[in-house]
Order: sequence, then C-alpha cells, then structure tokens
Amino acid sequence: MDILRNLVRKNIWNLKPYSCARDEFKGEARAFLDANESAYNAPYNRYPDPLNLALKEKIISVAGYHNIEASNLFFGVGSDECIDILYRVLCNPGIDNAVAISPSYGMYGVCADVNDIEYRTVPLTPDTFAIDTDAVIAACDEHTKIIWICSPNNPTGNSFDFSDIRRIYDTVNAIVVVDEAYIHFSVRESLVEKVSEMERLVVLQTMSKAWGCAAVRLGIAFACRTLIDIFNKVKYPYNINLLTSEYVNNRLDEFAQIKAQVNLTLQLRQKMADSLSVLNFVDIVYPSDANFLLVKVTNANAIYSYLCDRGIVVRNRNNVVLCGNCLRITIGSYEENAILIAALNDYTDK
Ligand SMILES: *Cc1c(COP(=O)(O)O)cnc(C)c1O
Repeated sequence: MDILRNLVRKNIWNLKPYSCARDEFKGEARAFLDANESAYNAPYNRYPDPLNLALKEKIISVAGYHNIEASNLFFGVGSDECIDILYRVLCNPGIDNAVAISPSYGMYGVCADVNDIEYRTVPLTPDTFAIDTDAVIAACDEHTKIIWICSPNNPTGNSFDFSDIRRIYDTVNAIVVVDEAYIHFSVRESLVEKVSEMERLVVLQTMSKAWGCAAVRLGIAFACRTLIDIFNKVKYPYNINLLTSEYVNNRLDEFAQIKAQVNLTLQLRQKMADSLSVLNFVDIVYPSDANFLLVKVTNANAIYSYLCDRGIVVRNRNNVVLCGNCLRITIGSYEENAILIAALNDYTDK
C-alpha cells in the first residue's frame, strides 16, 4: 500500500470522487427519481452502471481468468483512455518521467506530451528488436513513475520474455505497464493473472484488435484493486456508454468465432510472409506475434506511394527509429491480402 501511495500523485491519492446517483443506490427500485433522467426511452434514458460490473464479470468468465475479480478491471474509452489516466494518476507534470522501449506505440509519447511528462525512450536492439533491460533500468531515476512495455510490440511485431519484464519490475520501483493489444495473436501467455501478485504491474488489453470492435471503443486495464479504485475515481463517471457495453456483451458470446478468426489471421500471416519474402525488393520480413508484419524493403517511400496510387494503404514506418525502409502491413481478409500481393508482384524495383 505504501509503495503505491508513493507512486500516485498526492492530489489524486487524496481525491474525493464525484458521487453519482447510481453509486449511492444499487439494485431495483419501484421508482427512480434520483438522477433527473427522462422517464421515457428506456433503457437509454437511464445512466449506466458507472463501474460496468456485470460486463467485467462476463469478461473474466469468458477468458477463464483465475484470481482476477471485477475489482481488478478498469474500462477506458479504448486503451487510449487507460494510457492517459495512468499519466494523470501517477505523474506530476514537469517533475516525473516515463520510460519506454523504442520504437513502440505512439500514444505513450503523445499522452506524455499532453500531460507535460518527460518521455524517455530506450532503443531496442537493431533488427532483433530485443529489450536491453540494463539500458531500460539505467534510464530510470527516482522520478520514473511508468515503464511502458508493449508486448507484442507495435510496430516491430515481436514480444518479450517475462523474465526480462520481471527483471525490470524487480529492479525499478515504478509502475510497469505491459500493453497486450496484440496478445491474442501470440503464442505467449497473457500476464493478466500476474496482477494478483505484482501490485505495480498494469496489463492493458483492448477490444479493438482480435475482438474486431475498434469502432466501439473499449480498452481494459488489469491491475491490483488499489490502483483500479484510483483509476475509477479519476475517470468521468459514465465513460463507457450503454451502447458500447451492450455491444461488447453480445460480442463476448461469439468467442468461438473470434478464435477461428484469429486462427485464420495467423494462417494468412504465414501466407503473406511467404509471398513477401520472395520479392526481390523485400529485404527482411520480421517475425511477428501480432496481426501485422513489419517488412524492410529497398525503398519504403516509393513502394508506399505506388501502393497508395492503387488504393492500397499500408503504414510507412520509414521515419521511425530502427525502422528505416520499413512498411507495417496489417493482415487483412484473404481478398485484401491477395490485392496487395498482386500489386507488389507488378512492382518493378527501379
Ligand atoms: C491498436 C493499439 C491499441 C488499441 O488502442 P484502443 O484505444 O484500445 O483502440 C493499444 N495499444 C497498442 C500498442 C495498439 O497498437
């Protein structure tokens, strides 16, 4: 408790949260006359459960998590809200810092800038994209509140050994955030269940990738109850709207179908890697644990514009650290991938 208390901003630790009508009374009533809602247009006339407890319990049961309760989950409007709230809860603007591997997901740096938090990056090793744990540890100081580890990592596609993450966790007294947006495409196990024994670990997941719900906006942070309670008092009272929670609730019933879609994506990833690696302008197809491939080509800018001209959009990562001449290509449907490969087969390297 004291360890977390020292990591959380004082004003946030002491914050008295807004108490909403639905916090004070839970359950069924004969007449709901407490929240100035309309009496018409049920069920959308009512404010939703601010903590979304029923949906959290369903997520735990569908995933089959052990030692995880609804009080270990925080819902954000996408992982992006979870990332932002971590800064707002932990980091004093102009004083504290966050450390991240590089290259990695761009929002960690953008949210740091928004919150006026120093953002320190530690390069992965060239080409193998391994974590230099000593360098990560060396980049931290007494003002380091957050260490970002995206695994599988965007845009490099690889994931990291738990032993590396554990070493950083054991050496630095900061919150270690493992972003598992792509975990469903990886053979590695999720670290979600470790939050029951590691009080400074936060694991992020999202409905935006494997679950196919990017438009719906639901991100999940898993952590010890003390941290989750603090996130909940800082968030807007009804950040997750009823349309989102209803939609996700239904989507969770399609778990079998989602597993099949993930398996298909993994097969198509292999097929795409095979088709790309025989092209004479492709230098490296990096191994991937995610639903995309990072591909080093001879001239990323030229190939990117060539594809754009044909209505095919990939992500040009040429200007990203360690990703010179790299394109990041999402594994699409069979048809979309075929369109890409056909266009690349017609490309002549000049
Ligand atoms: C796509 C992605 C997310 C998802 O963000 P949402 O706000 O949940 O859509 C989170 N982290 C990483 C690394 C991603 O690539």
